[in-house]
Amino acid sequence: MKEVLLSIIKDDSRVIIEQIDEKYLSDNLGRKKGTARAVVFPVSTDEVSQVMRYAWEHAIPVTPRGAGTNLVGSTVPSGDGIVLDVSRMDHILELDEATFTATVESGVILEDFQAFVESRGFFIRRIRVKREPPSAAISAPMQEACGLSNTA
Ligand SMILES: Cc1cc2nc3c(=O)[nH]c(=O)nc-3n(C[C@H](O)[C@H](O)[C@H](O)COP(=O)(O)OP(=O)(O)OC[C@H]3O[C@@H](n4cnc5c(N)ncnc54)[C@H](O)[C@@H]3O)c2cc1C
Repeated sequence: MKEVLLSIIKDDSRVIIEQIDEKYLSDNLGRKKGTARAVVFPVSTDEVSQVMRYAWEHAIPVTPRGAGTNLVGSTVPSGDGIVLDVSRMDHILELDEATFTATVESGVILEDFQAFVESRGFFIRRIRVKREPPSAAISAPMQEACGLSNTA
């Protein structure tokens, strides 16, 4: 597995095989620990796609991970698979002021995104009143509910 992942990621600082830090095997509470054979940190969609293809072809479970702030065990990996940590995919790609939409990579931190839109005179309108930690990455499914509004 190590050779294949390194042939995809081509940077051994972004592929962890030995001594995986326990934080990558759990959620924010750290109560439940899972198992994984590798943690990878892709920086492009192409790397994500190649890792997913390899995992699919070899029936290897993959656990995506944003900022790991969930409290429900949803980043506890099982089955000796691969943890796919997207936290290094943290670029804000586009803010479309006409449609109040933005295109961001899945590791963008909510706090950074908020500062970015505010620096352009916008603010993030939250559909739900609940507040998740600003450290949460934008990738986790629930952020889809948020929209953009300008301060006008
Ligand atoms: C202090 C505190 C307060 C919180 N308050 C709230 C709250 O008010 N409301 C709330 O709903 N939650 C809350 N949470 C939980 C958590 O912050 C949110 O669920 C947040 O959205 C998780 O984002 P994350 O990037 O850390 O996701 P992670 O914890 O990394 O992942 C969460 C889930 O999303 C999946 N995932 C992550 N990235 C991707 C991806 N790119 N593609 C596919 N799947 C992906 C993971 O596999 C996992 O199943 C809170 C947590 C803390 C610590």
